[in-house]
Amino acid sequence: MHEASVVEALIKKAEKFASENKAQKILKISVVAGETTGYMEEALQHYFSVLSKDTILENVKLSITMVKPRLECKSCGDSFERKRFSFDCPKCGKPGQMTDFGTEFYIDNMEIEG
Ligand SMILES: [Zn+2]
Repeated sequence: MHEASVVEALIKKAEKFASENKAQKILKISVVAGETTGYMEEALQHYFSVLSKDTILENVKLSITMVKPRLECKSCGDSFERKRFSFDCPKCGKPGQMTDFGTEFYIDNMEIEG
């Protein structure tokens, strides 16, 4: 399960951020996950609750925003959301190209109490 290692890295990053900012407590953590990563929201939540035990992140609310992959059409310049099994531009029908939208995974926001 690749979610386990990505959540582990996420927790390490959050712990580092908390100690750098002398936070006593983390109230909430928000992450953005692109759907192209293949990470499942439920799996991320599951590993977060398991792996955050005995860390400063235990019982912290994890909020996940999933980002739909976006494609770009080189022919007409349109940018559109990828449909299942289709890469074609809805405007001109030419195949679109992948963009970085949908491949991201990062901490968007953290609420801390110092
Ligand atoms: Zn097009």
